Amino acid sequence: MTPTQYDVIVVGLGAMGSATAWHLVKNGQRVLGVDQYVCPHRFGSSHGQTRIIREAYFEHPAYVPLVQRAYQLWSDLEQASGLQLLTQTGGLMIGRPESIVFSGAKASAEEHHLPHQVLSGEEVRQKFPGLTPPWDMKAVWEPRAGVLYPELCIQAHLELAQKAGAQFHFEEAVQQWEPEDGGVRIRTERASYWARQAVICAGAWAREVLDGLNLPLQVERQVQFWFEPKSEHTLFQANRLPVHLWEYEPGRFFYGFPDLGNGVKVAAHHQGVTSDPDQLDRNVKPEEIEQMRQILQRFVPHANGPLRSTAVCMYTNTPDGHFILDRHPHYAEVLIGSPCSGHGFKFASAIGEALADLALGRKPHCNLDLFKIGRLI
Ligand SMILES: Cc1cc2nc3c(=O)[nH]c(=O)nc-3n(C[C@H](O)[C@H](O)[C@H](O)COP(=O)(O)OP(=O)(O)OC[C@H]3O[C@@H](n4cnc5c(N)ncnc54)[C@H](O)[C@@H]3O)c2cc1C
Repeated sequence: MTPTQYDVIVVGLGAMGSATAWHLVKNGQRVLGVDQYVCPHRFGSSHGQTRIIREAYFEHPAYVPLVQRAYQLWSDLEQASGLQLLTQTGGLMIGRPESIVFSGAKASAEEHHLPHQVLSGEEVRQKFPGLTPPWDMKAVWEPRAGVLYPELCIQAHLELAQKAGAQFHFEEAVQQWEPEDGGVRIRTERASYWARQAVICAGAWAREVLDGLNLPLQVERQVQFWFEPKSEHTLFQANRLPVHLWEYEPGRFFYGFPDLGNGVKVAAHHQGVTSDPDQLDRNVKPEEIEQMRQILQRFVPHANGPLRSTAVCMYTNTPDGHFILDRHPHYAEVLIGSPCSGHGFKFASAIGEALADLALGRKPHCNLDLFKIGRLI
C-alpha cells in the first residue's frame, strides 16, 4: 500500500481549484493540485482580463451572502498577495421593469437591504452618457459592484498556496480516479497519487471527469470583444462608467466594462453554441462581430469603433443555472466544485473556502443548499 502523501488532491487549478487549494493549505492540509495546462491559462473559463462582481444578485437572493463573503476574502487575498485584484466601479443592472435583470436585482437589493438606487432610462443617460437605454428601461445602480482581474486572482491563490506548502503539477491531465482504501486514487498521464479526499474543480471538463454521473451539463461557447471607442473616449473611463449588465430583449443579455486600458470589453451573456471543451472553435466569425456591433449601436454607440481583440471562453451550465458545490453522491471522499454556469468567478474566493470547509468536515460559512447535486441526478 502506498503511504499517505496527501490529505487532498485538487483536480483543476482554475478559479475554483486555486482558491480551494489555498484555503486547504492554510488549514494545514497537505495538498496536491493537478491541471492539464499551466495556470492561469486561456483555454477554460477564467481568462479575458476582467470579470464582474456585483451584489444585488438578480439570479437569486440566496447568492448575496456568498458574494458578501467573497468580497471579504478577495480583500484578504489582496492584503496577503499585495496585488490589486478588484476595482470598484459601481454597477448597473438594466432592463424593462419586468425583466429578471432589473426586477431580480431590485428584489435582492431590497431583501438584503443593500445600498442601491433605481434609475429611469433617462437618468442613466444623464449620469452615464456612454450608455443609451431607451425610455422604457430602468436600472438598479449598486455602488459596490466592480471588476475582478481573474488571471491575477488565480495567480495570487496559487502563489500563496505554493508558498504555504501546496504542490502543483501543471501540464498533467487527470485520466481517471477511483475510491481506494477509504480515500481516492487519481491517475494522470504521468503517475498515480492517493489522498484521503479529492476536490474536482474541472470547469468545462467536469462532465468528463465525473463521467459516471452523467451530469446534465452543457458547455456553451462565449465570445469576449474589446472595441476602441469611436468617439467620446473619456465616457468609458472607470471613474465615469460602471460595469453594466442588460436584459435588452426578454431573455437576451449582454454586459460591458469601462475601458481599463485595452478598449471597451463587451460580450453577450448566453446565446452561445453548445461545444466540446476539447474542440472549441476559437475563431470569431465576421457575423458574430456584426451582431455585437448591432447591440453596441443601440445601447453603447460611442464604443462601436475599431475591434481591438476577441477571446473565446466557455460557460458550463446546469439546467437551472445554479452551481454544484457538494459531495459526490456515491463517493463521500470526493467533492465537486464546478459548473458555475457563466457567473461563478466573483464567488471563487468564497467557493474555495466553502469546499475546504466541506473537506475539513466543518460547517461552511454560507448556506450551500441551493447548490446540492441531488437536484440534478
Ligand atoms: C466570457 C466569460 C465571461 C464571464 N463573466 C463572468 C463575470 O463577469 N462574473 C462572474 O462572476 N463570472 C463570470 N464568468 C464565469 C466564471 O468565469 C466561471 O464560472 C469561472 O471562471 C469557472 O471557474 P472554474 O474553476 O470552474 O473553471 P476553470 O477556471 O476553467 O478551471 C478548470 C480547470 O480544470 C482543469 N482541468 C479540467 N479537466 C482536467 C483534467 N482531466 N486534468 C487536469 N486538469 C483538468 C482545466 O485545465 C482548468 O484549468 C464568465 C465566464 C466566461 C467564459
